[in-house]
Amino acid sequence: MNDVMVDVHGVHKSFGPLAVLRGVDLRVRAGEVTVILGPSGSGKSTLLRTINHLEKVDRGWVSIDGELIGYRRSVDKLHELKERDVLKQRTNIGFVFQNFNLFPHLTVLENLVEAPVSALRRPRREAEDTARALLGRVGLAEKADAYPRQLSGGQQQRVAIARALALEPKVLLFDEPTSALDPELVGEVLDVIKDLARTGTTMIVVTHEIGFAREVADTVVFMDDGIVVEEGPPTAVLDAPQHARTRAFLSKVL
Ligand code: ADP
Ligand code: MG
Repeated sequence: MNDVMVDVHGVHKSFGPLAVLRGVDLRVRAGEVTVILGPSGSGKSTLLRTINHLEKVDRGWVSIDGELIGYRRSVDKLHELKERDVLKQRTNIGFVFQNFNLFPHLTVLENLVEAPVSALRRPRREAEDTARALLGRVGLAEKADAYPRQLSGGQQQRVAIARALALEPKVLLFDEPTSALDPELVGEVLDVIKDLARTGTTMIVVTHEIGFAREVADTVVFMDDGIVVEEGPPTAVLDAPQHARTRAFLSKVL
């Protein structure tokens, strides 16, 4: 049985002369949590964006649950998928951004209902029931009719997580989900992500929260300068890093 949920294979990506990803390989098994650490500019966000095909790769490929993202293969050639088909694939990949990215003109409930109704053609009543259940799960059942601006940053990020879950994605990607939050609001968001980890959600989390990585990650990946420098269980990478670059980074963030 193939239990690899996310497979990133030999991915290269440049912006003009700047080589941002220089041959990245990454495998995430179903139900596991991978935490990606690395200095600013090392290519972490670009890697997440290539996984859901917001960035096209120059070389290599990404597959989710065995399905190539952005391409189909015939014989030995890759053919680009149409935008409509890419959008459909993206419903399998939840993305939670640093800055929440909620729709400001929609209520919390409408934020959760929009994509299931428009992208997956779910009946509105059914989508609303699911949305209310998800808001309960992130502890915000009573905020269904509020607007994003009426919520704290931590609450907005919990709504953003619930919104990502509303599409029942196969994998959730988090790009520094707590970096924009006041320190006292970080815990409530990490608690929601921990709860998802306990229930077997496949996740890739870019974060500088080392304590969270230690507690929740099955695998910690350290990236620098567009490559994976080392990876392994948290105890190995965080407590006994093999590479000088990993040690230098950890000495700054710990
Ligand atoms: P990280 O998330 O690890 O901080 P990024 O993936 O955001 O790193 O960025 C890696 C490098 O790629 C940075 O030097 C950044 O300026 C550059 N970069 C990212 N996106 C673009 C883009 N769309 N065009 C040009 N350069 C980019
Ligand atoms: Mg980034």
